Amino acid sequence: MNIEKAINEASQNLIKKRIKSALLDSEILMSKVLKKDKKFLITNSEEEISDNDYKNFKKLIAIRLKKKPIAYLTGVKSFWKYDFIVNEKVLIPRPESELLIEQVLENYKNKENINFLDIGTGSGCIILSILKEKKSFLGKGVDVSKDSLKVCKANANRLGLNSRLKLFKSDIDNFSLGKYDLVISNPPYIKNLDFKNLDDDVVKYEPKKALDGGLDGLSEIKKVIKKSSELVKNRGKLILEIAHDQKNEVKKILISNNFYINKVVKDFAKKDRCIISTKI
Ligand code: GLN
Repeated sequence: MNIEKAINEASQNLIKKRIKSALLDSEILMSKVLKKDKKFLITNSEEEISDNDYKNFKKLIAIRLKKKPIAYLTGVKSFWKYDFIVNEKVLIPRPESELLIEQVLENYKNKENINFLDIGTGSGCIILSILKEKKSFLGKGVDVSKDSLKVCKANANRLGLNSRLKLFKSDIDNFSLGKYDLVISNPPYIKNLDFKNLDDDVVKYEPKKALDGGLDGLSEIKKVIKKSSELVKNRGKLILEIAHDQKNEVKKILISNNFYINKVVKDFAKKDRCIISTKI
């Protein structure tokens, strides 16, 4: 069996299961088995692979056929400018969450020594990307999941950010440490009824706690906003990721918690995704 044939065979099987990224997924898993990059696969497409590598490749494809996300199979996901370690205890970083980082960079262009808090840190992709960009910032991350904090810690180590990061295991309701110039959060915001519309990849494998926003999708957002109104300094900012259909409700919640709405930003799919507000 050669590289190209094995990839094509796997890709056909993935297509039958309606996996959209079939070819790419097959290439990624082949790269993992052979410990070679994509360029190698293309330039050596006719090279024979050992029986053992072929067996291992088929094993990974079989798991992917059951819809396990590719990032959990490889253990890494690229986000912003870095590769982040992930496992099934953390939500896989989404490209739309890079908006949070863009907004922080835009709003704090010439600002130094900002002390910020990330509520629901997960893998740490957001807080760590910001710390990488802004060398004088200090970040605190809070998450209910001890396992996700372990992943965040491992990512912080890899990126050399330990000295500017502090992590806390806590429910946001019980967290009241410090006052911050800025609070950021990508809270769980999926409505219970919307779970049935999510891909199997997400529903079967990603941590429900990181996605579940209760009946109306707003239960965690409400907690985050309420708590942030205590944790953010006056004139400090709250930058939140929201679902595409939550803009109006979230604005109302923010206003009733003494936040002024600066703007709502759309993601690359032109959906409202990020809301920036200031504590007044
Ligand atoms: N954007 C994610 C999704 O649709 C949800 C992330 C979240 O709930 N914060 O799968």
